Amino acid sequence: MLNTSLAYIGLGSNLEDPVQQVEQALYALDRLPLSRCVGTSSLYRSQPVGPQDQPDFINAVAALETRLSPLALLDQLQALEQRHRRRRERRWGPRTLDLDMLLFNHTDIDHPRLRVPHPLMHTRAFVLGPLNELAPHLRLNGERLEQWLAPLGNTITRLDSKRVFE
Ligand code: AMP
Repeated sequence: MLNTSLAYIGLGSNLEDPVQQVEQALYALDRLPLSRCVGTSSLYRSQPVGPQDQPDFINAVAALETRLSPLALLDQLQALEQRHRRRRERRWGPRTLDLDMLLFNHTDIDHPRLRVPHPLMHTRAFVLGPLNELAPHLRLNGERLEQWLAPLGNTITRLDSKRVFE
């Protein structure tokens, strides 16, 4: 059994009522084995990366306390994606639910199934924006999240709803 770790999870959806998909997934994260959700960002709307002929995405980030190992947590995230009937017809295409493990403590992981910190998180406003709301103290490669966000432009819109797990 591992000690408690803190993981940050990025969520995204642009199919089949994306707001509901993300809210249900936030609730489900709180119920994963040996885990509890200790914070969630607001929901954000963002334009799709890659093919533009698809709906906007709804994104959020959750902070998860967990005693799962990183790979066991990845298994749980992938099972949750499947339960949301994730469809993957094409790369960067529409999906009912995408879950990315952004950070796991301060650990660097380079495994065939799992790279942490998530290799693209520094380049994505829809990850950095909600993460900065949730954990403004975090730094990536020694830089504040705001500094990573600045060159990316104002491409995300915060929605009103906010859920917090106590
Ligand atoms: P995607 O299409 O972006 O959801 O990528 C899914 C694939 O990325 C899966 O095969 C995962 O094993 C792999 N992967 C590598 N690193 C991560 C990570 N940090 N979070 C989620 N999936 C990851």
